[in-house]
Amino acid sequence: MPELPEVEVTRAGLADRLAGAEVLSLRLGKPLRWPLGTTPEALAGRRLGLLARRGKYLWLPLPAQAAPGADGGLLMHLGMSGSLNLADNVGEPGPHDHFDLATSRGLLRLTDPRRFGAVVWSPSLADDPAAKLLARLGPEPFDPALTPEGFHAGLHGRRTPVKLALLSGDLVVGAGNIYASEALFRAGIDPRTRCDRISRPRAARLLAAVRETLAQAISLGGSTLRDFRDAHGMSGAFQHAAFVYGREGEACQRCGATVRRIVQAQRATYFCPACQRR
Ligand code: ZN
Repeated sequence: MPELPEVEVTRAGLADRLAGAEVLSLRLGKPLRWPLGTTPEALAGRRLGLLARRGKYLWLPLPAQAAPGADGGLLMHLGMSGSLNLADNVGEPGPHDHFDLATSRGLLRLTDPRRFGAVVWSPSLADDPAAKLLARLGPEPFDPALTPEGFHAGLHGRRTPVKLALLSGDLVVGAGNIYASEALFRAGIDPRTRCDRISRPRAARLLAAVRETLAQAISLGGSTLRDFRDAHGMSGAFQHAAFVYGREGEACQRCGATVRRIVQAQRATYFCPACQRR
């Protein structure tokens, strides 16, 4: 499943190339998660703004050229298996190509075999349906407004295991299953630790570790864009960089103890019982 780093790499790879392009036409394939909410005809002739990201959503602004009040954009999500590509000669759509936006800079194509992805028209990010879809997202990991103090305060009010709090995405977005395991290893925190037992310095270490893990995944993802459809949703390069994820029974790279695997809320968690403490 594409996680925040993969979505960010997608955004960075497309934003400059798409900005200013004119929409020529739109072809839809089979239904995605939700209906588009507008017609292909309403988009033709518009120019694309700068592609942005919020959590795992991408926002493609499509301001109206000469019709005030008709501004809007497309909110896109890659779901479980989606990928976006922009190319000049993409060929005929295949059975898994469900959104083809022809522009003056090439064809933007969403390929999504499982069709949990989405492309939805919204007047702005602050209006529904975008506002409703984004309402429950926590702060962006690299937002300077997310401070160690604020992060600690968020943990302090919870009794759940810290791994599950990270996965919920409401303290900070982007720490999906792989990255949550890795960040907890880097911070030396046992994934089963109750949130309200985590001290202020350890909370600060965890936030720094979340940022470091995601930043590394983004930088490695840049070179392995084609690996997105990997079943683990992890860029191939990051997989090799993982300290604990997927390494049950192997020796911890830091201390040599055996890496363990447990299941928390039906999701696999990997950790080093010696390096990570409650
Ligand atoms: Zn260890």
